[in-house]
Amino acid sequence: MQDSFDFRGFFPKEYTVKEISSSPEALTLDLESTSTHAPCPKCGFSSYRIHGKRRRKNIVDLPFLERSVLLNITLNEYICPECMQIFAENPGDFLLERKSVTARCENHISEVKHILRGNNAKTKSIVNSGHIPVQAGVVRYIPVSPVDICDTDRDWIYKIYKICYQDDNPSEHQYSLEELLEKIHANCERELHPSLVDLSLYDLSLLVSSDKRLKERIKK
Ligand SMILES: [Zn+2]
Repeated sequence: MQDSFDFRGFFPKEYTVKEISSSPEALTLDLESTSTHAPCPKCGFSSYRIHGKRRRKNIVDLPFLERSVLLNITLNEYICPECMQIFAENPGDFLLERKSVTARCENHISEVKHILRGNNAKTKSIVNSGHIPVQAGVVRYIPVSPVDICDTDRDWIYKIYKICYQDDNPSEHQYSLEELLEKIHANCERELHPSLVDLSLYDLSLLVSSDKRLKERIKK
């Protein structure tokens, strides 16, 4: 069945599917780029000068009909006539540099990891059972989706911090994440800050690590 299935729509339009091999567990697709030009990552100039080929092997993509999908991808390598930079193209931002998963597969794993509050072992187990055969080392380095908290909520958390702790000198008043979370839950009004009512410790830790004002005031 899968031999007659048209896989082209699953990949950026620059790729053509050269070969498909299948086993009961996995599909392996050989993709090749048919692009004629690509933007130089250094200066932005659009280069039409192909310099060679680059091959990326065993890239894990999202599964298809309960089978793992592995990709062997041949990319064009261009040389920029403006700045002489040699670079491999990345049509549709489909790949990630030096990673063995596609960008969309990483996004998926990242969401799972976010739901599981950053737990690497559980994330690996869940995605593996969902036909994404990634190793622990891959999961460990996948970032979790950034927490979606608006600026008003961030400012409010900072204000609460200052009110609760009469904070004048950040270096003398460092409190723990748990203490701050208690204050947030105790003080936030549902109508004004709906996304903070159920804020988890994990989300708060992500928020704090991305906010300089809070970061320097929280115990490591
Ligand atoms: Zn260039």
